[in-house]
Amino acid sequence: MLDLRSDTVTRPTAAMRRAMAGADVGDDVYGEDPTVAALERRVADLLGHEAGLLTATGSLANQLGMRLLVDPGEELLCDVRAHVVRAELGAGAALSGITTRTWQSEDGRLDAEAAAALMEPDAGPYLVSTAAVAVENTHNFGGGTVQPLAQLQRLRALTADAGVAVHLDGARLWNAHVAAGVPLAAYGACADTVSVCLSKGLGAPVGSVLVASAERVAQARVLRKRLGGGMRQVGLLAAAGLHALDHHVERLADDHARARRLAERLADADPAVVDPSRVETNIVVLAVDDAPGLARDAAAQGVLVSVLGPRTARLLTHLDVDDEGVDAAAEVLAKLLVTRR
Ligand SMILES: *Cc1c(COP(=O)(O)O)cnc(C)c1O
Repeated sequence: MLDLRSDTVTRPTAAMRRAMAGADVGDDVYGEDPTVAALERRVADLLGHEAGLLTATGSLANQLGMRLLVDPGEELLCDVRAHVVRAELGAGAALSGITTRTWQSEDGRLDAEAAAALMEPDAGPYLVSTAAVAVENTHNFGGGTVQPLAQLQRLRALTADAGVAVHLDGARLWNAHVAAGVPLAAYGACADTVSVCLSKGLGAPVGSVLVASAERVAQARVLRKRLGGGMRQVGLLAAAGLHALDHHVERLADDHARARRLAERLADADPAVVDPSRVETNIVVLAVDDAPGLARDAAAQGVLVSVLGPRTARLLTHLDVDDEGVDAAAEVLAKLLVTRR
């Protein structure tokens, strides 16, 4: 099977498994796991923040970041297709009493002025006050869109003037960093809290890291434990993250080139389906007449794609699909698109 449904489907490499097996561990709830501490330090340093916190999932890292910045009854602003508002099962509302308002965008691309125009930081006794803005980079449902650094910096300036905080959902910030050549710390400087995933393009089996000020991370440690997210000898998983940072960041450029090639092959088959020039990272979104039908027919030929809507399918390239695999998937999908045209 060529599984292009997501970059979460990768399995740890043999080298990563060796790194995990050899990890030095301790009880991280007691703060005694040296491998976890090393990972948290390393990610915080990369992003230019004071401290980091390992979490089991990206959703938990996002929810902790949001909770740190927004009090119950206050508001978080984000894109209408943001993961935090579409794909975390209402956790902000259900667990933290956070309300949201959203802005529309093209491909999830941030327009800082338009986002900031929604802010009402001091809404008085009748309306909801805005406490934070969340931005996603790259934008998942937008199709792997890389947020322009200038827009992130503009948002940072506009929100700071208004006393509003910024959370960056950087599940695929590594992809943005590699695609745009922007230092991770430059992205980190645009937000108060940042979440990054180790289990997407980086290929670790589990884990995300939230970075912020030392004071906020100390608070997040308490909130994480309260939610049942304190883990013990979790250096086994942190070791996978450290290994991924050493070996799987720069190679994301291969995933990006493969995604672009896949899009080009499919556009050759049917130009209405995808515009390859819009493929910026490892995500290819297809506009088709019958996405479930395409997914079913492709699966019958050994290619798995994800269905985002009745007319939207999505493909992701990742560590477990090489050039040959991408070419084979392109051939199957191109044929299906031609017969459906
Ligand atoms: C995958 C993802 C997350 C986190 O997802 P988990 O499955 O909870 O690890 C957060 N934000 C974005 C944009 C994602 O794509």
